[in-house]
Amino acid sequence: MSKNIALFDRAQKSIPAGVNSPVRAFRSVGGTPRFIQRAQGAYVWDANGKRYIDFVGSWGTAIVGHAHPDVIQAVTLAAKKGLSFGMPTEDEVELAEVLRRRLPSLELVRLVSSGTEATMSALRLARGFTGRNKIVKFEGCYHGHGDSLLVKAGSGMLTFGKPSSAGIPEGVANETIVLPYNDIDAARAMFDQCGRDIAAVIVEPIAGNMNMVKPKAGFLQGLRQLCDTFGTVLIFDEVMTGFRVHPHCAQGLYKITPDLTTLGKVIGGGMPVAAFGGKKEIMRHIAPLGDVYQAGTLSGNPVAVAAGLATLKLTEHAGFYEHLTATTEGLVRGLTQVAKLAGVPFSAQCEGGMFGIYFSESVPTSFEEIMACNVAHFNRFFNLLLNQEIHFAPSAFEAGFVSAAHNEEDIARTITIAKAAFEKIKQEE
Ligand SMILES: *Cc1c(COP(=O)(O)O)cnc(C)c1O
Repeated sequence: MSKNIALFDRAQKSIPAGVNSPVRAFRSVGGTPRFIQRAQGAYVWDANGKRYIDFVGSWGTAIVGHAHPDVIQAVTLAAKKGLSFGMPTEDEVELAEVLRRRLPSLELVRLVSSGTEATMSALRLARGFTGRNKIVKFEGCYHGHGDSLLVKAGSGMLTFGKPSSAGIPEGVANETIVLPYNDIDAARAMFDQCGRDIAAVIVEPIAGNMNMVKPKAGFLQGLRQLCDTFGTVLIFDEVMTGFRVHPHCAQGLYKITPDLTTLGKVIGGGMPVAAFGGKKEIMRHIAPLGDVYQAGTLSGNPVAVAAGLATLKLTEHAGFYEHLTATTEGLVRGLTQVAKLAGVPFSAQCEGGMFGIYFSESVPTSFEEIMACNVAHFNRFFNLLLNQEIHFAPSAFEAGFVSAAHNEEDIARTITIAKAAFEKIKQEE
C-alpha cells in the first residue's frame, strides 16, 4: 500500500482530518495528500520517494527554492548558538533594518511568528490608534484566522464553501465590513455612510487567497485617498506578496504607500517569521511605547531570523527577480498556449514569482468571476498533473508559486504534461 495512504490513515487518528492546516487535506480535489519526506530546490519527495515539481513552495515561502545551502548553513550556525533566548539579538535588528531598506514605508517594524499574528496585531494597533472599532476587508481576501478577519475570507474557507467560521461572536463579526474586491465605488459609498467609524482598511494589494486577482487600475489609489480623507489606517497585507511579486513588494510595484504593512512567508524563508510595521506615529502606540499590547515568547526567534536574513539576501542578487519573473512568465505562457490548442477554456497570469491559473476564457478580476471558473476542470487538471509528479496547490482558489530554483526543464516538463491533461479534459467533455 502507498505510504502516503498509510500515513494519512494514521494521521487521522491523532490530528483532525490528518492535517495541521485545512487545505492540505485534499478535500476539494479528492485523493490522498502527499506526505513529504524532504525537499530540495524546485522539488519535494513524498513518503514513497516519488519526486514532484513543486508549485506550492510552502505556500510561497520557498522563493529561493527548498533547502538552499546558504539558508541551511545560516540556520545550522544559528541553531548551534542556541534556539531561543527571549532576549534581544543583533540578527533581529539586522532583519528589521533589511526590511526597512527594502520597504521604506516601514518606519518601525516588529517581528512576530505568523502572518495571522501580524494581521491581528496590525488591526488592534489601528483600532487603538484611531479609537474606532470598524474595519473594512474585501470578499475573498484572507488575512489569517483572527476573529475579526475570518468573515468571508478566501482560501481554505472558499475551498470548503463556508462564508465564515463558526465560533466568532456576532459582536466581533459585526464590526467587520466586507466589500467587493476591485470595486472602488462600493468602498466610496461605505465611507460616505460611516467613514468616521472605520479604523482600518485591510487589503491584499494583489489578492492571492481566492486564486490570484490583480487590483484594477485606481482601486488601491482610491483606497489610499479614502483613508486619507477619513483618517482611516490603510493596511496592505503583503504576507503573500511581500518580496514575492517585486523587490519592494506590491507597494513598490504599484507605488502606493500604506500606513501599515504585514509581512510573512518569504521573510522567514520557510521558518516562522512574520512582521508588521509602518508609520512611526502609529507604531509608537505599541507596548511598551504605547498602550496597545502585543508580545511573543518566540518573536524574533534567532534560528528563524537567520533563515529570513539568508533568504532575503539571496533575493538581492543581481537579476534575481528578472529571472524569477521570466521563469513564471514562461510557465504561464506555455500553459495558456497548450490549453488553447486543446480547446479548453483557460487563462493565466503572473507577477514576479506568483501566478494564477483559471479555467475560464479570460482572467478574472473579481470574486464573482473567480467563483464562475470551472472547478471540476481544475480538480481533474490537478489530479492528472499530480499523477505525473507535478504538484500544484490542491484547490482552485489558491495562487501558485515559482521559485528561483525552477529551471527551464521543469517548466517545459510541466507544460508537456499539462498539454496531455488539457487534451484529456477536452476528450472527457
Ligand atoms: C498566508 C497569509 C496570511 C496568514 O499567514 P499565516 O502565517 O498562515 O498565519 C495572512 N495574509 C495573507 C495575505 C496570507 O497569504
